[in-house]
Amino acid sequence: MSAASSSPSSSSSAKRLEGKVALVTGGATGIGEAIVRLFREHGAKICIADIQDEAGQQLRDALGDQDVMFVHCDVTVEDEVSAAVDAVAQRFGSLDVMVNNAGITGSKVTDIRNVDFAEVRKVFDINVHGVFLGMKHAARVMIPQKRGSIVSLASVASVIGGMGPHAYTASKHAVAGLTKSVAGELGRHGVRVNCVSPYAVPTALSMPHLPQGARADDALKDFLAFVGGEANLKGVDLMPRDVAEAVLYLASDEARYVSALNLTVDGGFTAVNHNLKPFED
Ligand code: NAD
Repeated sequence: MSAASSSPSSSSSAKRLEGKVALVTGGATGIGEAIVRLFREHGAKICIADIQDEAGQQLRDALGDQDVMFVHCDVTVEDEVSAAVDAVAQRFGSLDVMVNNAGITGSKVTDIRNVDFAEVRKVFDINVHGVFLGMKHAARVMIPQKRGSIVSLASVASVIGGMGPHAYTASKHAVAGLTKSVAGELGRHGVRVNCVSPYAVPTALSMPHLPQGARADDALKDFLAFVGGEANLKGVDLMPRDVAEAVLYLASDEARYVSALNLTVDGGFTAVNHNLKPFED
């Protein structure tokens, strides 16, 4: 094999997903919406799959072309995940990228004595079982194609404790575990499986968790000030688009030899010591 033929074909292309077909769960709002918009900019044909029909249809209409579709899909219902995957493959002819993005944090309660077990089950149902179903049905299409990229949204809570409610942290550790397990199986079929773990990003999921004491009058500004204050990397606000860029990398052929990775998008937050400050004057 020549050096040229073994090189990634799209690394110099401005449109890094040209000719690819992607499905994004929870794609109607938040980080999912940013992924949908960025993937579209990079030429992918896209299916937005969400339970918020109005928001999903509005986004499809805003992107306004034949290469974007919306399907109602609750990721906890296997028939709906299966049907969404089939609808994309039928309309666009393949499924190259599956983004398992839909997720919830569950209630803010972190005192284990007061945690409602029904809430724990709900968080696992969406964050873990939903991701599992996305992987399962994407694999069904990707294995015969002998190619594909599955990217799931984990979180810094997949790496360390104390970043959210117990069920959320456990569920995101499970996403990281599923990623490794399924990557181990699908590698021989040419299918890559990775996850992305962001620090706090301003969305409908995270902003309600801002402590009362950090709230003044501008929700976005207050959120960014609080999480920026706790961040390792200063001078940059982590936004949905930054997470979408990491997902784009893993979806694209530029990451063609990257699998089983948990890519943190956290400015070093989960890797550094936050207590001792040896470098401060
Ligand atoms: P969000 O609440 O803004 O958006 C989530 C989307 O998922 C919504 O469109 C919602 O309708 C959809 N959804 C919820 N339940 C669903 C279901 N059962 N089936 C299909 N769709 C469903 O949340 P976000 O902040 O954009 O989070 C996206 C992902 O990123 C989640 O997995 C979350 O855990 C992860 N994450 C978020 C942050 C953050 O700070 N925002 C940080 C780390 C990881």
